[in-house]
Amino acid sequence: MEVLFLGSSGATLTPRVGCSCRICARARERGGRDVRSGPSLYLTASSGGPSPDRPGILVDTPEEIHAALLRWRVERVDAVIYTHWHPDHTAGMRLFEHLNMDWLAEGGPRPHRTTPVYVPERVLQDFQAHHGLMEKLLYLEGRELLKIHVLQAGQEFSVAGLTLRAFPMANPELWTYEVREGARRAVLAVDDTQGYVPEEFLAEADLAVLETGWFERGPDGRRLLPEGWPSLELEASFEESLRIASRLRARRTVFTHIEEINQRTPEEYDKLARSPELSALRGSFAYDGLRIRVGEEA
Ligand SMILES: [Zn+2]
Ligand SMILES: [Zn+2]
Repeated sequence: MEVLFLGSSGATLTPRVGCSCRICARARERGGRDVRSGPSLYLTASSGGPSPDRPGILVDTPEEIHAALLRWRVERVDAVIYTHWHPDHTAGMRLFEHLNMDWLAEGGPRPHRTTPVYVPERVLQDFQAHHGLMEKLLYLEGRELLKIHVLQAGQEFSVAGLTLRAFPMANPELWTYEVREGARRAVLAVDDTQGYVPEEFLAEADLAVLETGWFERGPDGRRLLPEGWPSLELEASFEESLRIASRLRARRTVFTHIEEINQRTPEEYDKLARSPELSALRGSFAYDGLRIRVGEEA
């Protein structure tokens, strides 16, 4: 299977409008790996035939998703899976209109396709409680642009040639996905992994995709986060992400959800990836457009 990183940022995009910091200024000037769009992955089965005709699954719909699909030449979305309700992962829900609506149909606009959308039960509850997300989903479902499938913990389902299961993390709002194609296996734990202790059956996958987590200090040792910053208590640090990676023992680990506030360039992440600790994990950092063939050597 292949994992395509459509967007490698977290809640803070790179560059940020109005920001003249070193990272944003560089991103504006250089483009390429320096620019990070909202967090999303695209999964395809190797058995699915040549792209762009190969069926695929979209993980989350950040608000930049339509532009990201165009940029990375994804021409079809056969299913969408949601990891949690946070706005950086859901604000692009109107995507289903772009994908599926036939605006010029005889008798008025109607869908030419209905996309299955897989939502863990707790995530669906959170959609009801936040940002009118459930109302948006039900509106789209009412127009037959999508069909909601509720997932119980560990419930297996197959779509686009891949077999998946979802499990709640330590923060029950957040769900990990295990994705399989034959003997190949990927584990996706893309955000808010604080306190997460992955189940042993998720260990030793071919690929783990993990949240990067926060850095207290920049590469120059300068303090990045104010003392008492609330997320120090609530969200995983990079050190905690490394502990999760060590426990998962995947053959390869890619860290994503990379925040602008981390204040690191792609080359600084490359250097960090060459450290003994990350080398031992075969760890690296994502960038927009990165494609990983799961189970094949880098
Ligand atoms: Zn996020
Ligand atoms: Zn900036």
